[in-house]
Amino acid sequence: MSDQPTPMMAQYLAIREANPGSLLFYRMGDFYEMFFEDAIAASAALDIALTKRGTHLGEPIPMCGVPVHAAESYLLTLIRKGFRVAIAEQMEDPAEARKRGSKSVVARDVVRLVTPGTLTEESLLEARRHNFLASFASVRDECALAWVDISTGEFRVMPCPEPRLAPELARHAPRELLTAEGSRLDDIAAECGAALTELPLGSFDSASATRRLCTLFHVETLEGFGSFSRAELAAMGAIADYLELTQKGRMPLLRPPVREAMGGAMQIDAATRRNLELTQALSGGREGSLLAAIDRTVTAGGARLLERRISAPSRDLDLILTRQAAVGYLVAEPRLTADLRDALSRSPDMDRALSRLGLERGGPRDLAAIRAGLTQGHSIAAMLGNDEIRILAQAARDLTGHDALIDLLDEALVAEPPLLARDGGFVAPGFDEDLDETRRLRDEGRGVIARMQADYIAETGVQSLKIKHNNVLGYFIETTSTHAERMLAPPLNERFIHRQTTANQIRFTTVELSELETRILNARDRALEIERQIFGRLCRAVLDLAPQIAQAARALAEIDLTAAFADIASGEGWVQPQVDASRAFMIEGGRHPVVERALKRKGEAFVANDCPLTEEKTPAIWLLTGPNMAGKSTFLRQNALIAILAQAGAFVPARRAHIGMVSQLFSRVGAADDLARGRSTFMVEMVETAAILNQADDHALVILDEIGRGTATWDGLSIAWAVMEHLQAKNRCRALFATHYHEMTSLSARLSGVENATVAVREWEGEVIFLHEVRKGAADRSYGVQVARLAGLPPSVVERAREILQQLESGEREGAGKPAALLDDLPLFRAAPPPPPTPAEPSAVETRLRELNPDMITAREALDLVYELRGMM
Ligand code: ADP
Repeated sequence: MSDQPTPMMAQYLAIREANPGSLLFYRMGDFYEMFFEDAIAASAALDIALTKRGTHLGEPIPMCGVPVHAAESYLLTLIRKGFRVAIAEQMEDPAEARKRGSKSVVARDVVRLVTPGTLTEESLLEARRHNFLASFASVRDECALAWVDISTGEFRVMPCPEPRLAPELARHAPRELLTAEGSRLDDIAAECGAALTELPLGSFDSASATRRLCTLFHVETLEGFGSFSRAELAAMGAIADYLELTQKGRMPLLRPPVREAMGGAMQIDAATRRNLELTQALSGGREGSLLAAIDRTVTAGGARLLERRISAPSRDLDLILTRQAAVGYLVAEPRLTADLRDALSRSPDMDRALSRLGLERGGPRDLAAIRAGLTQGHSIAAMLGNDEIRILAQAARDLTGHDALIDLLDEALVAEPPLLARDGGFVAPGFDEDLDETRRLRDEGRGVIARMQADYIAETGVQSLKIKHNNVLGYFIETTSTHAERMLAPPLNERFIHRQTTANQIRFTTVELSELETRILNARDRALEIERQIFGRLCRAVLDLAPQIAQAARALAEIDLTAAFADIASGEGWVQPQVDASRAFMIEGGRHPVVERALKRKGEAFVANDCPLTEEKTPAIWLLTGPNMAGKSTFLRQNALIAILAQAGAFVPARRAHIGMVSQLFSRVGAADDLARGRSTFMVEMVETAAILNQADDHALVILDEIGRGTATWDGLSIAWAVMEHLQAKNRCRALFATHYHEMTSLSARLSGVENATVAVREWEGEVIFLHEVRKGAADRSYGVQVARLAGLPPSVVERAREILQQLESGEREGAGKPAALLDDLPLFRAAPPPPPTPAEPSAVETRLRELNPDMITAREALDLVYELRGMM
């Protein structure tokens, strides 16, 4: 056995080596085959059979394959599982290779690297979500983040100091993040769910970046797009470099890069997005998120715009007011809104069709999508007569002026063209004379064959004679074997040339039939060729207008989003919030859109609540107490969501709202389980709280839910207390703070601008009824025992808890410093194990601490104890 690989294997290994880090899909006829480790990994990931083919270095070669026609679904699975795939196609007809000699192999080359951030196929993309590829560059002290969606052409960049990277990535949720080798961003990438791709430092070189970008945009200089820092150029340049690498020279159609200013949007970090379930519910899916609850868009482009808006509410007052005005106009015009939405629902995704055409991956259906989108765009523009409303007037302008292209596509394309250009049949009759003529020839040929068959039947007297077609013989004449003798004898055998005998049939051809066949085949090939040329011409016509088409697509998305906001405002009774540059935060009758929707499904009503956080006072902090399940978290979150919706330009679920621009939004929940990241829950809570205290400015809105819950009682209380003091004195921001430490309610007397509020419950015959009403003032007690009962704790345990509670409460009334004695009175706690022997004599503080069971004392006792311990030192 020789160690020399076969020529084909040698070619495979060479291509494999040139494309490290990806699975190699190696085209062989109708299959993409994988070999060696690739085959092992792919067969496991795809759950397909692993086989063997030949040997390499004396070992059998593992192999698996997927059929080309079904490759996309396999690709999707592989990409979702974190693979990258290099696709090697046959670059010539196998016949060409055979001509070169029996040993020669069909030329193959990688035509594309498929990675999570560079998908364009409809079947691989989620229609209603962006598919961003991001790139982070650091040049000396400067850092920048660029991101692109090659399926829509959107390209943006912004300065991004390293600490801002995680929140910005959380906002865009890119599928793939490019960084320079050794940047160690694995954690950050994993946090936002992006695949990390490290590129050589050279890809981030800012000097060659300018050149690459100029080539990408076919310009001499980038000055026309604005001025960019070196880090920004580096980040964008790396994207250009990566696209060249993955698309193998077929560059996508990108819009000129737009520079986003830092501070243009409300800052919302990853933890806040998670807690508020903006675009994803805590359970992982879209269902249950704010996005799912309020999405009334009817186009994919509109849905993607909504996600962008919700992910990055604006801080540009003028823009917010302009958007509100447009929503308000449509709220007042319900008929128009319904008509618009009806027309919009018939507009296809032009962005993605355009991108596929730009990458030469498009087909006739993409051209038809552009035609339908622009046509709908025209009628939509005609509906928008009002010039007063800036956004709508601009959109109407962007949607007009495409008549020439619409006419061309209308004339050229049939109503429902096929997906692929390959088989033809998409050019409408009457568009091209030459094509019509050739098609006639082709089709007439078929008619001529029918006549020929009739003639031959008459001539031979064989009634069952047929003219048929197959791929091996082409056209042939067939009779059953019973007529063989007659057909093979003179005079018929002079005309009918024998070609094949099968079990029951005998097949012939004639000179006329071969001639006709050639004519038909020629006509078919020629028709296909003409269609191919027309397809190319139509693509060029579309791509010449790519910027205008992209603009029209954006206009449709904007109208869709505005109409969707109007629709939900009318349907759900939302109001236009007053937004300004002040620090006001006043909400009357606010509701939580997601909880309200969930309750509605169950036939229950949501109790609207006011949040008059500010009345000229600075800072304005509410301390919210109340039992578990009363509705504290819901109230906290609804106010944050209302601020987000207001700055996204939408109306809000409230009776009235006045929101002074929120610069940053923070939301934290105490002791959320975060086992996935392997950090102790309390540590996470503290790291996140530290981030708020270090960053929140006086226009921030901070929502803290049970901070301090993740540790022992007195630790927790002390931390919550100190955090509150810091927010009030240093951050001076607007904040809502929910806690079950009733002791904290005394803070409101000491700190100006801090007010108590509580969620009301009523006790009735020993049971607690949740009213879900938020009122000013402190909660009197926590009702934990009653809640435990509702949760189904055994009655004996509930009864016992009630007993203990009574004793503890009466103990508390008798004065501080007694908890230990009190605990001794309760037989339950006396059996605590003795402390382990310690070598040195324990101090008084240690002894005191050791006597205690931290889980069994109230918060109040804990605080007293802290004072007591301080006194003992
Ligand atoms: P807490 O944070 O006080 O433990 P939650 O905010 O989690 O309480 O609310 C508990 C449940 O009470 C929610 O799941 C919801 O069904 C209901 N709820 C909360 N707020 C309201 C409200 N304003 N109106 C009606 N039901 C509410």
